[in-house]
Amino acid sequence: MKPETKHEVCYVLATAFERKGGWSLDTQFAEIVGAPYLLAHGLGIPVADAETAVTLPAAGAWRVWVYTRNWVPDAAQAPGRFQILVNGRPLEKLFGDTPDRWGWIDGGTVDVADARVRVALRDLTGFDGRCAALAFSACGDARPPDALDEMGGECPLEPQGADRHGDQPPRNFDLVVVGGGIAGTCAALAAARQGLSVALLHDRPVLGGNASQEVRVWCGGEARHPLVREVRNRFMNREPGAALSDRERMRLVRDEPTLTLLAGWRACGAIMAADGSRIEAVEARQVETGMQERFAAPLFVDATGDGWLGYWSGADYRMGREAADEFGESMAPAVADEMTLGSTLMWTSMEANDDMPFEPLEWAEPAAQGIAATQGEWNWEYGLDRDMISEAEEIRDHLLRVIYGSFSLAKRDRANARRALDFVPFNLGKRESRRLMGDVILTENDVRERREFPDAVATGTWSIDLHDKSGEADFLTVCRQPLFGRYWIPFRALYSRNIENLMMAGRCFSATHVGLGSARVMNTTGQMGVAVGCAAAVCKDRGILPQQLARDAAAVSALQGLIGGGFPGHADPARAGWLVIDESDSAHVTVSGEWHKGLHENGGHYGEGFLYCANGGPESWIEYALPIEEPGVYRLRMLWNHYWDGRASAVPVRVTHAAGDVYVTVDMRLGSGLWHVLGDFKFTPGKPATVRIGTAGVDGIVVADAVAVEKCVS
Ligand SMILES: Cc1cc2nc3c(=O)[nH]c(=O)nc-3n(C[C@H](O)[C@H](O)[C@H](O)COP(=O)(O)OP(=O)(O)OC[C@H]3O[C@@H](n4cnc5c(N)ncnc54)[C@H](O)[C@@H]3O)c2cc1C
Repeated sequence: MKPETKHEVCYVLATAFERKGGWSLDTQFAEIVGAPYLLAHGLGIPVADAETAVTLPAAGAWRVWVYTRNWVPDAAQAPGRFQILVNGRPLEKLFGDTPDRWGWIDGGTVDVADARVRVALRDLTGFDGRCAALAFSACGDARPPDALDEMGGECPLEPQGADRHGDQPPRNFDLVVVGGGIAGTCAALAAARQGLSVALLHDRPVLGGNASQEVRVWCGGEARHPLVREVRNRFMNREPGAALSDRERMRLVRDEPTLTLLAGWRACGAIMAADGSRIEAVEARQVETGMQERFAAPLFVDATGDGWLGYWSGADYRMGREAADEFGESMAPAVADEMTLGSTLMWTSMEANDDMPFEPLEWAEPAAQGIAATQGEWNWEYGLDRDMISEAEEIRDHLLRVIYGSFSLAKRDRANARRALDFVPFNLGKRESRRLMGDVILTENDVRERREFPDAVATGTWSIDLHDKSGEADFLTVCRQPLFGRYWIPFRALYSRNIENLMMAGRCFSATHVGLGSARVMNTTGQMGVAVGCAAAVCKDRGILPQQLARDAAAVSALQGLIGGGFPGHADPARAGWLVIDESDSAHVTVSGEWHKGLHENGGHYGEGFLYCANGGPESWIEYALPIEEPGVYRLRMLWNHYWDGRASAVPVRVTHAAGDVYVTVDMRLGSGLWHVLGDFKFTPGKPATVRIGTAGVDGIVVADAVAVEKCVS
């Protein structure tokens, strides 16, 4: 490795080490720290050394500097201690115990006989020591600047260093999407499937954001579009199976010929047109090497969650809670403030075959505030009243300390002797930070009243899910979750009102704090992604910008058609010619026995809910009478959901048609929210034409939702 040199100081990024050993690449706080860094996240077991070769300008005496911090400054002994080895010999000084904020620590001098040296980071604790860079200064006065991001154009860490590009031209695309969570992945795929050339810039090695194996949040809300169903997670919170969904997402993206995935690239700035009205290119850095490139396009999507691209480009944004009277929101506070939803690290431990020693952690236990635990769910949430951008690292670190502390308390109990920490993420699961402002700001009342926007392009079904501190400990919350059924998200909430070629998808879309409380769930953000990806295609086709699209009824209709229709005032072309009979249609549906009304905030049902029968028998059935007006062969389809476990695996469905009865058995544990074909049947007007869902002899809950009839042959 050839280090960067400036004023007789040679810089080496820790992330550029040739071998990372067991050190993790932490990219999420690059804007706060000045660069991504290496983290010794060993859950208490020291991780393997990171190593690299460095060629200094000359042999001789060099002073070594280390950019680091002590993440638990009030501990008697810092938990994140590590050593630096030069040519296999540790420096005398230990690192990780100072300073309290990121800064350079003087590691003393080394005398090297050869300009080429081997440098290693050696973790001593397994408890999150961290290092962003090393610097070698010629012995004398030379000292690196105080902050890593003040190191100037020659350092690979400086965001605005336009000089660094030299004559290298930007790479050109039809669309650049920044952030590969569920929203960004859907946006990139939707646009690429419309034939656009797309760059997807994503700072992590796997796609999915909070849904990925790195955070493991379950995808909620209605997965209305088939593309969202391809991309979303199939696993519940904290399940390791999230890794399988990551692999599937990577395959989907890599299989798309016009989509360029730039995994391991973190956007770090925007190059604007001279008048500041539009983005010309995004600047991004390779997270390990610091290499920087520009990515140009006529249109951009901010799917970073934190609204970074909007922030750099000067887009209007908000952070915090609106006052109740600003938008007439009953769930908003009386006075506006800076509170947001908090962030979480969901974690687990597991039972080993034998005792697992774990030394009590005196530095961590007080943070647990007396709560001993062996796992933590969504409600281990912290930072509601802290700044979710500038204090994000401290929020994450507090949660780590709380987790280690509560596990340490739990390990004092003999019953947990065989327990070991299993999954503790280091990537912070965020729920809310910047919200970029569009021409419409989705509010509580849009959700509550289910306002039918003419430019609706996505749906939400989740409750307005707001959280408050529980009062029990500073890291625990409780939630309020009023549910209002399916509502609509307009395209006007998915582009910036003042940066003309910027769209957004995900939790940084245009909503109030309360409106976001519902639409932030990931099947909904995936729908936003599909919408902006398709919008990019409509814009390209018509040579217009997002705001012009929103103001042109024909263009909006084209967009809704591309997405799949089914929006207020716009029929779903995929279902053109289908006659759908919902369970609520009393003119055509007969109910026998005890059935209950169900409504899932997760969607997956047709119309306003469905019926279910938990204790079936021969007398409990539902029959759909099919209004056949012309003789012919008809394809019958049925829809059900399995939001919770316990659906019946073999449900008897009887189809009565012109030639008699046919019995079909369906497995309601599979294919939630999908139209399942029952078969093709010949019907004649005036002759029996019914579908009856039975419950006799079933092994679980039976759902009756909708039946669809499509004529296929005259
Ligand atoms: C504990 C917890 C429980 C939750 N429960 C649920 C639930 O049950 N169901 C549900 O659906 N939702 C749930 N949510 C909410 C949901 O996870 C978030 O609202 C959602 O992740 C937002 O999606 P996003 O795509 O906007 O952001 P993210 O998922 O955060 O994805 C954004 C991605 O962009 C990348 N990125 C950021 N900046 C840059 C940059 N500069 N350059 C390149 N890449 C960048 C990030 O690494 C990240 O992977 C929960 C959240 C938490 C924390």
